[in-house]
Amino acid sequence: MLTYQTWETEEKPSFPHDNETKGALDVLAWAYRQYENNIVYACSFGIEGIVLIDLISQVKPDAEIVFLDTGLHFRETYETIEKVKEKYPSLRIVMKQPSLSLDEQAKQFGDELWKHHPNKCCELRKVIPLREVLTGVTAWISGLRREQSPTRSHVQYINKDDKFQSIKICPLIHWTWKDVWNYVYKYELPYNVLHDQGYPSIGCAPCTAPALDPNDLRSGRWVGHKKTECGLHIS
Ligand code: SF4
Repeated sequence: MLTYQTWETEEKPSFPHDNETKGALDVLAWAYRQYENNIVYACSFGIEGIVLIDLISQVKPDAEIVFLDTGLHFRETYETIEKVKEKYPSLRIVMKQPSLSLDEQAKQFGDELWKHHPNKCCELRKVIPLREVLTGVTAWISGLRREQSPTRSHVQYINKDDKFQSIKICPLIHWTWKDVWNYVYKYELPYNVLHDQGYPSIGCAPCTAPALDPNDLRSGRWVGHKKTECGLHIS
C-alpha cells in the first residue's frame, strides 16, 4: 500500500484527465479502494469542497468528512454544512474543534490573535487539530486546484505530505474555476451564499473579505498580512 513510509518504493498510479471530472472520480475511486476507512477529507465547505463532496458521495457514500471548526467561521458556512448534511445523509461529517476555546486562547495569547499573529492562530485552530485528525489515518483528501495560486501550481493527484507525514490526494488539480461552477450549476448543488456576494474563497470570518482583485481568487484572505495560506499546505 502507498503510505508516507513506503512512498519511495511504491509505484504511483497515473490517471487520465480527458473526461468529465478531469480524472477526479478515478482518483477518488482509487483512493477509497486503497485506503478504505483510513482516509479522510478535510473540507472547508467552499465551492471546491461542494464539488468534492458530491464526487466522494458517488464512490464512498459513508465517507468521513472533517471540518476544522475554528469557532470563527461565518454563519453562512455553518448553514452550508447543514444543507450538505441534508443532501448527503450517509456521509459522516465531523466538526473538529481546537483544544483551546476562544476565551482560553485569548487568555494565553492575547485578544484577537488573528490580528497580530495569524500564523499562531492558524496553528492552534487549524494545523494542530488537523494533525490530530490525521494521526491514525494513512491519507487525506484536499480540494486544491493548480489554478488557485502559484503555491498550488505544482500539486499532483497524489502527494507525499511531509508536514503531516501522510499521503495527500488532490483530485481537482486540473479543474478551473469555471469547471467548478459548471458542475455546481449542472447538478444543482447547495453552496455557501457568500460566493454570490464577492467571496470566491471563504475561511474564518475575521480573515476573509471579498476578493480585492477579481483575477486573484484568494486576494480577500488575510488582507493586510503577507500570509496567503493557513499552513495546512506548506511544509
Ligand atoms: Fe485564526 Fe484567521 Fe487562521 Fe482562522 S484563518 S485560524 S481566525 S488566523
